[in-house]
Amino acid sequence: MAEKKELECSFCKRKKSETNMLIAGLEGHICDRCIEQAHGLVVKELAEVETSGLSGELILKKPQEIKSFLDQYIIGQEQAKRVLSVAVYNHYKRLLQPSKSEEEIEIEKSNIMLVGETGTGKTLMARTIAKMLNVPFAIVDATVLTEAGYVGEDVETILTRLLQSADYNVQKAERGIVFIDEIDKIARKSDNPSITRDVSGEGVQQALLKLLEGTVVNVPPKGGRKHPDQKFVEVNTRNILFVAGGAFDGVDRIISKRLNMQAVGYSASKNEERVDEKNLLQYIVPTDLKDFGLIPEIIGRLPVLTYMNPLDAETLRAILTEPKNAIIKQYKKLFAMDDIEFSIDDKALDFIVNKAVEYKLGARGLRSLCEAILTDAMFELPGSEEKKLRVTKKYAEEKMEKSTLSKLKAVS
Ligand code: ADP
Repeated sequence: MAEKKELECSFCKRKKSETNMLIAGLEGHICDRCIEQAHGLVVKELAEVETSGLSGELILKKPQEIKSFLDQYIIGQEQAKRVLSVAVYNHYKRLLQPSKSEEEIEIEKSNIMLVGETGTGKTLMARTIAKMLNVPFAIVDATVLTEAGYVGEDVETILTRLLQSADYNVQKAERGIVFIDEIDKIARKSDNPSITRDVSGEGVQQALLKLLEGTVVNVPPKGGRKHPDQKFVEVNTRNILFVAGGAFDGVDRIISKRLNMQAVGYSASKNEERVDEKNLLQYIVPTDLKDFGLIPEIIGRLPVLTYMNPLDAETLRAILTEPKNAIIKQYKKLFAMDDIEFSIDDKALDFIVNKAVEYKLGARGLRSLCEAILTDAMFELPGSEEKKLRVTKKYAEEKMEKSTLSKLKAVS
């Protein structure tokens, strides 16, 4: 009787005894080594398809085009828009350059620091840029971050958010934009760094450094410490654009002091530009942030520094009606979906703006004021015979009177 032939891998012809494992298919067999090789090929191939697809998706516009795009959504803030347009352009140019040889000049990251009062559109700016570039975007609040090992969130969870917004596509996340809000809240609390432990101040700044610069980080995909069993995902932050924002309450005093000190010793020439005391942020320089309590390394890694202007009544008025998705346009659309024609008088708009200024509610308040005025109509009109709503100043005043917002005291 003929000796039974030893089974072999149909791909590499290794005998069963030469393999660790031989898996049977319908008409053949495959060994563990061939499976591993094939798996490697598949992973590589898929990654290439993804990358080529991604560079196609990344829409890079020229700085002036970037600014025009921002203009559609954000009112005013000319200086910040210009600075950001250039920074974003350079950042993504850096991304698209072919892999570098040793001698080639390496373009460094241009992470951005946006200084401005709350509600002046810092988040909106970063969000709009992400929308334009079609890249993942995540907002994180610096106040919840603490040094590893303390109650709070580790800095790695910043990337968890970005991963989530990229549907866990690591390559996409690695080209995303992260907005770190309230960066001023992690400033060193006192001038003497050694007195007490400062777990949510300088420690966090130190932890952020590496992230901002570019490093491979082990990211818990589900975030937090509640899921100790999760497998970490490696994310390289080299090409992630970080935009940090903060109000830096009190920095105006630092700026003012510096400007006054500079003036001493110079004979104040008549032609010298007058300092605009109402908006000192426009004179901000990196050393002011250092004096505020940010460590120099952090400031160095957020090299593009710019400011947002406070919103005056005129800007608030424009915000109500002009941007592509202005609040009033949104209400028009909402009512139109119920076949109701919505209109609002200029005087009523002025009334809303004046209330926002009076109560110091800023741009965020515009929305709450509109809600207060329109909630009754949005409740009553759908399904009724009434197909028109015209909001006059009188109507707005009456509805405001009824609302809890009217209990607010004017802020002087
Ligand atoms: P910040 O991040 O500075 O606290 P946000 O970006 O969250 O402020 O702004 C709050 C809201 O105010 C935004 O959703 C936006 O509707 C509105 N807003 C603020 N500034 C502007 C602006 N310059 N143009 C258009 N809308 C603005």
